[in-house]
Amino acid sequence: MGWLSWLRGGTHRDHKHGTIGSFGVLPTVRFDPDLVSGDVERMVRDMIAGESDIPAAKRRGASRAALASIRRGRDAANLTGWLLNEIEGLPKASAQRIARTIHNRATVMMRLARELKQGLEVGIWMHSGAPCYPLAGGGTVAGKEASAAAHKQLSGKRFKLVEGALIDGEMCWPGWDEGCRCTWRAYIAGFE
Ligand SMILES: [Zn+2]
Repeated sequence: MGWLSWLRGGTHRDHKHGTIGSFGVLPTVRFDPDLVSGDVERMVRDMIAGESDIPAAKRRGASRAALASIRRGRDAANLTGWLLNEIEGLPKASAQRIARTIHNRATVMMRLARELKQGLEVGIWMHSGAPCYPLAGGGTVAGKEASAAAHKQLSGKRFKLVEGALIDGEMCWPGWDEGCRCTWRAYIAGFE
């Protein structure tokens, strides 16, 4: 998650050239929101590159279709349709899972950018009540159940918007993980 490192002012991996550079220490809440669109693009490219169901020759087109869907405002059905039309033998459930996760992550990133720009720093994790259970993908059933339990335990807990919260050894945000139904509300000191 290069964009996250960038928000934090840490090391940044340039996926295009495969090199690692450093932006140095940046103030975490003062960044240019226009750059976030580049981060959304990077997230989309990374996710598609990590999907073994999408052949290498289709990645560029899939990224373009995903970004077009995001710009149209969360048009996950459109991206699902593109994937099914273009990739022979792709199971419908995979296409839906990929499209949903990409759109969820883009939504999280854009909301984070907006709130950080507004000067907000902390969120309160809100669990939906329904289990955040990954619908597909790898991992054992026990692992998935532990992950769903971790989401539930985070409910009501504060997290720094730039950092997210730690689940399974990885930092993530409400709504970021596959199958996650969590969201957050902004925490404003004195209004609790
Ligand atoms: Zn969740």
